[in-house]
Amino acid sequence: MNTVTEHAAIAAADAQQASTYNASDVTLRARLIEAGILIDTGEDGLYGRSQVFEDVIDRLNHAITLLGADQEAEVLRFPPAMRRHDFEDSEYLKSFPDLAGTIHSFQGNDRGHHRLLEALEKTVSVGEEERTDEWMDQQKPTRLVLTPAACYPIYPTIAKRGALAEDGATVDVFAYCFRHEPSIDPGRMQMFRMREYVRLGSPQQVMDFRQKWIERGSLLVNLLGLPFEIDLANDPFFGRGGKIVADSQRAQQLKFELLIPVATPDRPTACLSFNYHMEHFGEIWKIAQANGELAHTACVGFGMERTTLALFRHHGLDVKAWPAEVRDFLWGDTQSSISAGLEALS
Ligand code: AMP
Ligand code: ZN
Repeated sequence: MNTVTEHAAIAAADAQQASTYNASDVTLRARLIEAGILIDTGEDGLYGRSQVFEDVIDRLNHAITLLGADQEAEVLRFPPAMRRHDFEDSEYLKSFPDLAGTIHSFQGNDRGHHRLLEALEKTVSVGEEERTDEWMDQQKPTRLVLTPAACYPIYPTIAKRGALAEDGATVDVFAYCFRHEPSIDPGRMQMFRMREYVRLGSPQQVMDFRQKWIERGSLLVNLLGLPFEIDLANDPFFGRGGKIVADSQRAQQLKFELLIPVATPDRPTACLSFNYHMEHFGEIWKIAQANGELAHTACVGFGMERTTLALFRHHGLDVKAWPAEVRDFLWGDTQSSISAGLEALS
């Protein structure tokens, strides 16, 4: 490439990047709250959802069900909490201590109750600024923690059943998840829903599954009329050692994300993720393949709120004014669009 064309190519790449980044909209949160689509609770990352928001979530969820119907996945639903015991085993705290949410409760006697009320009285009687959390001294950990990712309760559950069948297992999960990452980015919530398909089996089975879902996830987002890119990614591992783990995760290509410009000023948002855990969960919970070897696992996670926010960002706040193809897909014959899309993929 000569220097002139090289410069032109760099300029074109810059322009393309700039147009992707400009496609994010930092006013989105304020506009959604103003329109009553998200309800401000006063805490960053904790929102109420309106009927219109939930309607989009439901339709998106239905589309994901149709997209994965041929897998005949086992549907399992858990509440947004899991056993602390399983959470401790999961090694989540090794990687993300800053994101975890534990559940505490009052477990004292009358004297403790008295102290709690005294501390609470002090707290509520002072100004907003001086409020303290002294009353929480009376709270003790329960045996539950908040679920950090929808697939976490699956592994110990499947492990208890004994070795997997020859063709492994595929599970369909959906749950509210908690991550302590307060932010004014509406795409970074503290409580949000994750729909997932989880595959357990041989390395080949789970890698095939992940590849299939990178294609199907892209199909879905195309049908939603949204711009996107797929990129290699890493999880936000905590601390100094975290950088090494993140680099190794990238080097082994364990995580890909489907990114859509939503509301962050300088980068698109990960709305879907495609994760290969190798034998990490298989080893922790002793999940065996039919041949006795440790099971490998992978999951595809659909960020329900993030994808819904992307729809509002790109198609506008009035769902009735969304492009006809997108309306037809979500509120019309979703099944036919998906069948045609899957046919084209195969
Ligand atoms: P991860 O386990 O981090 O790959 O998350 C799975 C999916 O959940 C991501 O692709 C996002 O779409 C979604 N997600 C992760 N963190 C958040 C968050 N703080 N707020 C909303 N959605 C999130
Ligand atoms: Zn998962």
